[in-house]
Amino acid sequence: MDINLDTGKLIVFVVGLLLFLVVETLFPARSWQNSRLKRMSFHAGVAVLNTVTIRIIAYVPFLLWVVYVEEEGWGLSRWFGFIGWTEIILSIVVLDFFDYIWHRANHRVRILWRFHKAHHSDTEMDVTTALRFHPTELLVSSLMKALWVLIWGPTVVAWFLFEGLISLCAQFHHSNIDFPNWIERWLSWIIVTPRFHTSHHAVDRRYGDANFSTILSIWDRLFGTYSQLDKEGATTHAKDALGLPESRQLAFSPIAWLVEPFRTRNLELANERAVKATPEAGESS
Ligand SMILES: [Zn+2]
Repeated sequence: MDINLDTGKLIVFVVGLLLFLVVETLFPARSWQNSRLKRMSFHAGVAVLNTVTIRIIAYVPFLLWVVYVEEEGWGLSRWFGFIGWTEIILSIVVLDFFDYIWHRANHRVRILWRFHKAHHSDTEMDVTTALRFHPTELLVSSLMKALWVLIWGPTVVAWFLFEGLISLCAQFHHSNIDFPNWIERWLSWIIVTPRFHTSHHAVDRRYGDANFSTILSIWDRLFGTYSQLDKEGATTHAKDALGLPESRQLAFSPIAWLVEPFRTRNLELANERAVKATPEAGESS
């Protein structure tokens, strides 16, 4: 059963990736500024590294945890007695809400932002951006997801459907496509669209520090973090419109990308020490 669900999740991932890759190639919203081959190979390398890391360290214990929590009947969903499709739909909505809070925390808490920055350092946005996550962020997320499972208690089936859906939605809203205004208007009321998420990746902070939702877009509207980008903004070909303002030349340098979160920390610690040491330095001078 679990093996079938796991295979199903993999099929959804591969089909989604190929589908959005074809669609964005045929109907790109923005022209690419850098070599697509370079982007694809870098992000494929990140995906392989992350898959191996997660499979070795977190995957089996996490799966056993989901099964154990279900067998023990822990979590709000079990206590309320939700079953069948009611349980599956409610689990997806509640877990998507937890994901919204967690994504927001990744932007607000400095230590988490150091790692989440690795995703936002992409200088453009297409379906391969959905693969770009620092392995440390994914490991910390696994711990957080174990807590969500304990709190809500989704069934194993609901958990796999949520994971499959979140991967598909992430591929969709990172892809380099844009809908006509009338489709965008009604679609973005329900789910996170590429234009909705482009706002989240904008360098311009008037737009970028918003739109944290992953599947349903209601969370941003409900908690006041919604920011609207017009068609021109979402399809702008202006150089450096997406990503982070700093270190853009290192965005596709594997070693720099991997060590950046740790290096920044060291620099900050060094700065803190320097500040503390200042009075003594003042006395001696
Ligand atoms: Zn983000």
